[in-house]
Amino acid sequence: MTELTYRTGRKPVWCPGCGDFGVFASLTKAMKILHLPNHETVVFSGIGCSSRIAGYVDVYGFNLLHGRSVPAAIGAKLAKPKLTVLSIGGDGDLFSIGCGHIPHAVRSNVDITVICIDNFVYGLTKGQNSPTTPLCNDCGLNNNDETSNVPIDPISMVIASSMSAQSSFVAQGLDSDVAHLAELFVAGIRHKGFSFINVITDCTTYRKEMYLRIKEECTPIDPEHNPHDIDAALKMARISMEGKPYLGVFFEGNSIK
Ligand code: SF4
Repeated sequence: MTELTYRTGRKPVWCPGCGDFGVFASLTKAMKILHLPNHETVVFSGIGCSSRIAGYVDVYGFNLLHGRSVPAAIGAKLAKPKLTVLSIGGDGDLFSIGCGHIPHAVRSNVDITVICIDNFVYGLTKGQNSPTTPLCNDCGLNNNDETSNVPIDPISMVIASSMSAQSSFVAQGLDSDVAHLAELFVAGIRHKGFSFINVITDCTTYRKEMYLRIKEECTPIDPEHNPHDIDAALKMARISMEGKPYLGVFFEGNSIK
């Protein structure tokens, strides 16, 4: 079994240098490490550049309506518990039109893995701000004025949704660190219950400058951090949201028995 076992051989149509290539490489690496049987693995995706990944990974794949990959993934897992089920989409797909599904997926704690390929932009439709676009006047955008909406922070939202059930697995990685990102995918898929991994990703065509700024500020989570401490995880998410993104596992809650 190699990483090629999990690649359809179709040539991705992403722009040269797009961070989606790094996420794809990390995903196939994780699948290899886990020896996932191709016929028992399913990727659901929505609409957007990154959602094309369902056509490039050689497992069962569904390219769904915009924002609807999470409920479809939950349905598949409930119908066929033996499957490894992933829902993959961009920040626009999962945190705009699909955002309402996220807290309910967390509280249901169904054993699926959601990967958000977060590049702070609607790339496919040519560069509009997405729900995660930071406010910024000096990083290629002039969107920090009274008419701008503050961004959603995916990590904070998922941890906050985990508060009552103390369930879920929440992590953040970087597209260019394939080995670390693959480790996070492996840990998320192994976690029994809902898991969420946010990936800070380069849209080299529309958000290069912003990505480089954010990447420069990224810091690995302190190895002393206790991932079972949800208050500490929330505190770190807040610091992360304020411009010092942490990379690693923020929170790991209760598994399904
Ligand atoms: Fe990647 Fe951006 Fe190009 Fe889309 S527009 S393929 S996200 S670089």
